[in-house]
Amino acid sequence: MIKQCDYCYKKFKIASAFEKHECKEMKRDKYSKTLAGTRAYNYFVSWVKAKHSSSYDLDYFLDSNYFNSFVRFEEYVSSRNVASISTFLQFLCFKQLTPNTWCSDLVYTAYVEFLDVQKPLDSAILSLQTLNRLGTTFNCNITEVLYKLYPNEYIHLLQTRHLSPWLLLNTKGFQAFLMSGNLNKEQVKIINNLIPLGEWTEKMKNNPEQLTKIKGYIEKLKL
Ligand SMILES: [Zn+2]
Repeated sequence: MIKQCDYCYKKFKIASAFEKHECKEMKRDKYSKTLAGTRAYNYFVSWVKAKHSSSYDLDYFLDSNYFNSFVRFEEYVSSRNVASISTFLQFLCFKQLTPNTWCSDLVYTAYVEFLDVQKPLDSAILSLQTLNRLGTTFNCNITEVLYKLYPNEYIHLLQTRHLSPWLLLNTKGFQAFLMSGNLNKEQVKIINNLIPLGEWTEKMKNNPEQLTKIKGYIEKLKL
């Protein structure tokens, strides 16, 4: 009896060949049913919608030239622990970058710059969400989180912008950390590079309204 693949419609006379058969269509369909596949598809939908295009059903995605770019993007944002993927997508769409260019250090650096310059308040709120999450992990009050983080944890969270200088520089907790003597020379250097003080003093001066709001959150939470 002749068997046929449900995905690519290829026909087989030999049963063992049919059983061994694996085509692109089948692999993509299986992937789309995994968690990662669902995420990749959702990123694709956000991107298509941002372009004001209407072709974003799953079949269209599975057959798209951008399919592999979104698989790579899903792996990238998961493994890099990207801060606020929705804001990152907004940024990528706003910059009109094509999906095959999204996964690079250069693009991520530009995203961090975008957050720092254009999104003070969002950055601070994102940082508060991070502290909240860490509070749950450490099983402590949000106020204590900044006193519990190790230097390398601070560095990672700063690099990815899960914690933003917009929030950190205005907290007692981060000041205490800098003065704690727990940092080695290399770590001091990295943090100074991550937060050039002159530049940040200037940024704060240029955004007085956002700064007042951020300081308001900090005061309320006693950070
Ligand atoms: Zn097939």
